[in-house]
Amino acid sequence: MPLAIRIHQPGGPEVMCWEEVAVGDPGPGEARVRHEAVGLNYIDVYHRNGLYPLPLPAGLGMEGAGVVEAVGAGVLDLRPGDRVAYAGGPVGAYSQVRCLPADRLLKMPERLDFQTAAAMMLQGLTSAYLLRRTYRVQPGDVVLIHAAAGGVGLIACQWAKALGATVIGTVSNEVKAALAMAHGCDHIIYYSREDVAGRVREITGGEGVAVVYDGVGKDTFMGSLDSLRTRGMMVSFGNASGPVAPFDPILLSQKGSIFITRPTLMHYIAKRDELLELGAELFAVVTSGQVKIEVNQTYALSDAATAHRDLEARKTTGSTILLP
Ligand code: NDP
Repeated sequence: MPLAIRIHQPGGPEVMCWEEVAVGDPGPGEARVRHEAVGLNYIDVYHRNGLYPLPLPAGLGMEGAGVVEAVGAGVLDLRPGDRVAYAGGPVGAYSQVRCLPADRLLKMPERLDFQTAAAMMLQGLTSAYLLRRTYRVQPGDVVLIHAAAGGVGLIACQWAKALGATVIGTVSNEVKAALAMAHGCDHIIYYSREDVAGRVREITGGEGVAVVYDGVGKDTFMGSLDSLRTRGMMVSFGNASGPVAPFDPILLSQKGSIFITRPTLMHYIAKRDELLELGAELFAVVTSGQVKIEVNQTYALSDAATAHRDLEARKTTGSTILLP
């Protein structure tokens, strides 16, 4: 029987079990995929520790790349042998083989290898909707991207730069700063020891940024609001440091009639057409070389616990993959 990571209770990395799972034939509208590589994402931590609760027992993982083994009734556009990649639900990518809805799969461009595809789908589609849909970055915009050397960070910084923006990135140390600078950042702020909003005002001549992309959450939220220009856009899209505390909406008026949104990828790719369009935009910037995918950590899937520990300890940079 194939193996998969499963959890029977929420908790630390130790709750992940490597166990046999029954994977039958794909049902109507499904495909069975044998994974060649699986992507690691921060949402996997929230699923594991219960911040985003799952019905238990549960699989983990939202992203993978592999080969179609079989398709169920009604699946007309995929065949056994097709190379596919995906991101988003349903959870369960931490597995050697799985069945999932065929309409969630994208055929991989020929030039893309499985490891790159598994590394880029979730963080890349996220960067795509953040920069191209939630707030459409324009040439000349100054943008602030938190955790610039992380998975989403390295992709989003390169992409924002390619769109003609001036990119300010935040990081926790010098090694990450060098990496972020090599991937699109024009300015770096060390957010653990510098006043982010103060530095942003210095860099922008007092004006503030057009948009903040904040996946860090609790620790950065107020500094992000204070970094915006009048009528700027706050995009709060994650909680790596913990969830954002409740706040009074009058703050948005006081800080310059600013906008705030708290989006999730799932609502930007819910329809098949949206997924295909966003996927095409992502594949285009990667295959053209405008955005380079940095797979900086690789672990055995059976050792996902170590990968989670390293991610939570801020030891990783760029993207991370798990090999089944
Ligand atoms: P990253 O690779 O960016 O890892 C998280 C990074 O956050 C760390 O490397 C660290 O960088 C920074 N960080 C700051 N404070 C903390 C802390 N207290 N604990 C841990 N890390 C911290 O992860 P991802 O690229 O996978 O995801 C980035 C964020 O985006 C996450 O919050 C994730 O949930 C969110 N996300 C949201 C999506 C959506 O649609 N809403 C989709 C995809 C991701 P440093 O050391 O430089 O501070």
